[in-house]
Amino acid sequence: MDFSFLPDSWQLLESVQDGEHLILRVQDQSSHRPCPHCQHLSAHIHSHYVRRPQDLALGQRPVTLFVHTRRFRCLNPACGCVTFAERWPDWLEPHAQRTCRLAQRQSQIALQVGGEGGHRLLQILGEVTSADTLLRLLRRLPLPSFTTPRVLGVDDFCFRRRKTYGTILIDLERHRVVDLLPDREIATLTQWLQNHPGVEVISRDRSGDYARGAASGAPDAQQIADRFHLFGNIREAV
Ligand SMILES: [Zn+2]
Repeated sequence: MDFSFLPDSWQLLESVQDGEHLILRVQDQSSHRPCPHCQHLSAHIHSHYVRRPQDLALGQRPVTLFVHTRRFRCLNPACGCVTFAERWPDWLEPHAQRTCRLAQRQSQIALQVGGEGGHRLLQILGEVTSADTLLRLLRRLPLPSFTTPRVLGVDDFCFRRRKTYGTILIDLERHRVVDLLPDREIATLTQWLQNHPGVEVISRDRSGDYARGAASGAPDAQQIADRFHLFGNIREAV
């Protein structure tokens, strides 16, 4: 079996098949590890323990790594850190229950098909992950950056129907959601527009609150009523 996907310094000590589950015991063979606080290398081992993160399935078999982890003493007298656990920031974050590459794949799946859909899809692929975990991974993803839109669409949406509403802001030229505001208040929209100067056209519904928020936050922007709400008004009138 090819285990070249493991970090270079890691050695596979043992592979154990537990039913459909595959357990790989691995250990970093580096003799020195850097203190995460002062970066001084240390070879003085204080203790050992085992971490058990999930990794990508092999074939359709779920994989758990048993990572034999060493705790080192930091011998730098100027460092306030007495002992530290070895770390692999590109591979396994401190306290993480899954490898970085597994977290990355699962969060991308959740991004495409959501929590429940991702849970069912991953089951087929041999990974057992709950829908709640997928949503948690999704929330940890960094928000995409955006440039201030020239033409901004402003409308409300509901967090809970008839109970809690927010405001959705859309770049109408790129057809992308650029931000979600937690409410429909005038001050919130005003603040957003003041923090993102450069909006030239604001398309909105015909409520007075958004009109006042747009006027005070971007007084030079042209306000227009969007087609959806105009047709809605015509339909109601007819
Ligand atoms: Zn140190």
